Parts: sequence; C-alpha cells; structure tokens
Amino acid sequence: QPSVVFDNVVFGYEPDRGILKGLSFEVPAGQNFAIVGPSGAGKSTIARLLFRFYDPQQGRILIDGQDIAEVTQASLRAAIGIVPQDSVLFNDTIGYNIAYGRSDATQDDVEAAARGAALLGLIDRLPQGYATEVGERGLKLSGGEKQRVAIARTLVKNPPILLLDEATSALDTRTEQDILATLHRVSENRTSLSIAHRLSTIADADRILVLNEGRLAESGTHGELLRID
Ligand code: ADP
Ligand code: ADP
Repeated sequence: QPSVVFDNVVFGYEPDRGILKGLSFEVPAGQNFAIVGPSGAGKSTIARLLFRFYDPQQGRILIDGQDIAEVTQASLRAAIGIVPQDSVLFNDTIGYNIAYGRSDATQDDVEAAARGAALLGLIDRLPQGYATEVGERGLKLSGGEKQRVAIARTLVKNPPILLLDEATSALDTRTEQDILATLHRVSENRTSLSIAHRLSTIADADRILVLNEGRLAESGTHGELLRID
C-alpha cells in the first residue's frame, strides 16, 4: 500500500485568499487517517488537490513517494477510490451501478461486480432479495443502500487508497453508524483518508488531524483529542 504525503502545501482558489497555508501531514502506508475541521476549512479542497482538479501554488503532494504532478491522470484515478457524500447512481441495475467506472463492462463483469459486493458484505445487507436481484433499479434505493452501492462501486476497482469525503454526512444516525462500521472494515488493508466535519462521523482512525485556518491545529488519536476538548 502507498503512503500519502502533503508537504508544505499552499493553495487558494483566488491568489489573495489562501485556503491551505502550508499544510503538511503524512498518512503512512496502510494506515487509516481522518481529517476533521469546521465547514469551509478546506477539507474537500484536500480531496480535489489529491485528484489534481487543482495544483498547489507551493509544496508537493506525494503518493508512495512520488510527486503526483508527475503521475498520469489514469494512474492517479486507479490509485485513489473516492466515496463522496452524495453518490449519484444511474437509474439502472445495482450490478451495472457497481461495475460503472469500467465503461467496457460486459454483462459478465456486471454480475461479477454484484457477486464481489455481496462477498464483501456490502449488498447482502440490502433488503431481502437485493443480493441476487441484480436487476433492481438503483434509484429505488434508500440513502444508506445507495451509499453501500457507491462503496461497492469504488471497491470493485480495488484502489490501494480510499478517500472518504463526508461519506456518511447525508445519512441518519443509525444508518451512519452502520456504514461507518462497513467503511472501517473495508479500509483495513488500505491506506485511507476520511474527511468529515465532526469527530463522530468518522470511522475508527489510527490518527485524526484537525484542520483549522489552513493548517494542522492538532492531531492525535480519538481518545487524545476528546481529552483536549
Ligand atoms: P470544507 O470541505 O472544509 O467545508 P472546502 O474545501 O469545500 O471546505 O472549501 C474551503 C474554502 O474554499 C471555502 O471558503 C469555500 O467557499 C472555498 N471554495 C471552495 N471551492 C471554491 C471554488 N471553486 N472557488 C472559490 N472558492 C472556493
Ligand atoms: P472513475 O474511475 O470513473 O474516473 P473515480 O473513482 O475517479 O472514477 O471517481 C468517481 C466519481 O467521483 C467520478 O464521477 C468523479 O468525477 C467523482 N469525483 C472525483 N473526485 C471527487 C471529489 N473530490 N468529490 C466528489 N466527487 C469526486
């Protein structure tokens, strides 16, 4: 698994308004880290920089020791799987929704994707019948079910890095806890970065980084940070 490093990253959407003001952190290979911070702190900006939707004005971002500015867009996308807050599903079958991302997916791929998701325990917990009914339409699913399909869609590509951007923020508390437990399980053998605005909405993390005013304000384990509060 790769490590993820932000090395003194400076970034603003407008030149005179910095969002990240020299942000440095390292997620060691295979570890699950979280970033929390108030709304507007720049958490999603970190995700956008990782995907190179934007490039930093200063500093470097490294994956597995390699500057992402020197990596092809295709290998960057293969390395990072994202689970966003509001996953958009096609009005098509669950199998197709999971296999999406591979535009050349055949019917066999679609069925294999659905079976893979069931093996991961992602879709066998949908209402009865869903695990086998690859034909069920995506748009009929509840928020939590949609997120399961979205997680499966990301995992089917087996990305070494998982980026969870407010992945459970749109869900009710009970569904959220359920999905957090699932995310914790599937993050186990990957490097992961979970972005959230509250401590309670991140899966168990090896370390939590607190972002404030464009820099790291604090970092520690869940227990350590609660003591600071
Ligand atoms: P968070 O995810 O922590 O809520 P964001 O990274 O989305 O914060 O945004 C950080 C700041 O950057 C906010 O003040 C936001 O308004 C601003 N911002 C986000 N996207 C853009 C953009 N495309 N152009 C200009 N400002 C932006
Ligand atoms: P693909 O392999 O199909 O390119 P990706 O895993 O790169 O898929 O991205 C899945 C979807 O999430 C794409 O539609 C992409 O545009 C979207 N996406 C990528 N980065 C972000 C982000 N930071 N926030 C929200 N959505 C994103």
